[in-house]
Amino acid sequence: MGIIKAKDVIYEYMRRDEEGNVEGITRAVDKVSLDINQGDFIAILGHNGSGKSTLAKHMNAILYPTEGTVWVDGKDTREEEELWNIRQSAGMVFQNPDNQIIGQVVEEDVGFGPENMGVPTKEIWERVEESLKAVGMYKFRKHSPNKLSGGQKQRVSIAGVLAMHPKCIILDEPTAMLDPNGRKEVIRAIRALNDVEKITVILITHYMEEIIYADKVYVMDDGKIAMQGTPREIFSQVEKLKSLRLDVPQVTLLAYELKKRGVDLPDGILTTEELVGALKQNRKG
Ligand code: ADP
Ligand code: MG
Repeated sequence: MGIIKAKDVIYEYMRRDEEGNVEGITRAVDKVSLDINQGDFIAILGHNGSGKSTLAKHMNAILYPTEGTVWVDGKDTREEEELWNIRQSAGMVFQNPDNQIIGQVVEEDVGFGPENMGVPTKEIWERVEESLKAVGMYKFRKHSPNKLSGGQKQRVSIAGVLAMHPKCIILDEPTAMLDPNGRKEVIRAIRALNDVEKITVILITHYMEEIIYADKVYVMDDGKIAMQGTPREIFSQVEKLKSLRLDVPQVTLLAYELKKRGVDLPDGILTTEELVGALKQNRKG
């Protein structure tokens, strides 16, 4: 069993009117099964309302399945006595960095998690230092978080989760509120967590460019997993992606259109370099 496993998970929200009577039911996650290996970089894609956040909240026991089961590091998330172990194994980073940072000083903020876990003071400071270094924010440790850019704040949030020594980090659209530079900084930090620190990463995003480094991609639609595969396998299916209301990266789209017009190219081109390489190959051949 992987670090996170879901079996036939269904989640239903009750919609209530002003008096609190149940008006109806929204099935936000519909029979989802997945098994995520320790150390993998997983991306979850899907348009708004496809159920990504609801599924993510099952991965650190913020929500429990209406039906089916979720295991985090082998523990059923419904077992109440495991809640803190689960939250420590699988940390969560949300979209808005302003809602996650509570400290007045960066290093204090990063220390809150381990402090709440009862980590001894000396070790807290070691963890704060290593976590801030891992996301490239160590030189800002004495700064006030309020003065940081969105990308910097989000990296501090990631350091805060990292300081709890999780096995897995789930990031729910961590770059959605950032400018292109902030997005790049955060994605670079996330990749390093996976490459260097060997932490399992689950990145939820609707930016296609951000998934090209993933080992595996799940695409959600209407609460279900509509597609799964490597980024290349996913990007080979341009029409399907369009039908799921997802934007294909420009370079992938260009390659797809060229191929349709008879240019000999491999499927699922992910980067400009790849496209240029393939075109040069053609001229030689
Ligand atoms: P995504 O993160 O992909 O945008 P969500 O998981 O937020 O999708 O939402 C999936 C579905 O569940 C949507 O139809 C949404 O309207 C509904 N939903 C989300 N949160 C709630 C809630 N707290 N109460 C009722 N319905 C909700
Ligand atoms: Mg969401």
